[in-house]
Amino acid sequence: MFKDIIQKLYETQNITDDEIKLLIDLPESEAAPLREAALKRRREYYGNDVFIRGLIEFSNYCKNNCYYCGIRAGNTQVERYHLTKDQILQCCDTGYTLGFRTFVLQGGEDLSYSDDDICDIVSSIKKAYPDCAVTLSIGEKSKETYQAYFDAGATRYLLRHETATPDHYAHLHPESMSLENRKQCLWNLKSIGFQVGAGFMVGSPGQTLDCLVADLRFLQELSPDMIGIGPFIPHAQTPFAHEPQGSLLRTLNLLSILRLMFPYVLLPSTTALGTIDPIGRELGLEAGANVVMPNLSPVDVRKFYALYDNKICMGDEAAQCIRCLGMRVKCVGFRIVEDIGNVRRSV
Ligand code: SAH
Repeated sequence: MFKDIIQKLYETQNITDDEIKLLIDLPESEAAPLREAALKRRREYYGNDVFIRGLIEFSNYCKNNCYYCGIRAGNTQVERYHLTKDQILQCCDTGYTLGFRTFVLQGGEDLSYSDDDICDIVSSIKKAYPDCAVTLSIGEKSKETYQAYFDAGATRYLLRHETATPDHYAHLHPESMSLENRKQCLWNLKSIGFQVGAGFMVGSPGQTLDCLVADLRFLQELSPDMIGIGPFIPHAQTPFAHEPQGSLLRTLNLLSILRLMFPYVLLPSTTALGTIDPIGRELGLEAGANVVMPNLSPVDVRKFYALYDNKICMGDEAAQCIRCLGMRVKCVGFRIVEDIGNVRRSV
């Protein structure tokens, strides 16, 4: 029965809600056909290529208070930092030499950078590395601000929707934040012309199978270029400190389902996945992921960008990270490519 559902998903990119639920909870002993179908799809679109994105965690200041996140405003124990433009350019310089052609600037919603500051950083990177893409991941902004970022040269934006179920959204965020606004931001980004990434955590507190179905349905509506998912991992200095972490198997099943529903999509095998299992990222690639995002942040600030506990690669120089990942990727039969890594919407 599972095999028929997988075949239907492979052929039509769609299945019913109940069928989705069955595949999300597919036991490991039955998961091989799902992995095989996802890999077949992945190879049709991306061969054995794995795209790399250089992640620059440039600020851990945040005005928001998301209940799951270690750098939430309410965490008074975290030491705050933000990088200067020169420090960010230095990270890009290191990254460029190592073969990165995409830089992802991620941070909390740090009010100390004006729109002009961000635009200046983006345009300086574009000027120095015209053959590279700049991705921003700095949260919810007005449409005008997003437009200014785009005009400055940022062409990609990552903004996980976190959950498409309003009640669940309210369980994860304070009242000042709303799913409606989060979704509107994604639509605005799309209409401006950004390549957009959405996504969610697997196993966030209060998440049900119905929530996950709603997440997939929302993604079908949005049709994003990138989908970021990873397991929820508790952080000791958050209200969710004692909640269980998300399941490896569920995350892998969801990666495979996403690959089959969105054959073209850029799908990272995330650091969070590598954190809950020593070979989590390799398993993610074998489940259908095609992107990895090694850390290019200066080593001395990494420990302060702890969204969750026990995050990996905290002490590694960028060069070490890429070498280690290159080997890991090779071990499971893929290869890292030096490429800007655009989405391939068709084969
Ligand atoms: N401020 C930006 C970047 C957020 S950090 C924004 O609002 O988009 C990037 C992602 O890390 C978040 O979207 C969230 O899905 C994930 N994340 C945060 N806390 C986490 C945790 N405890 N476990 C796993 N993932 C987490």
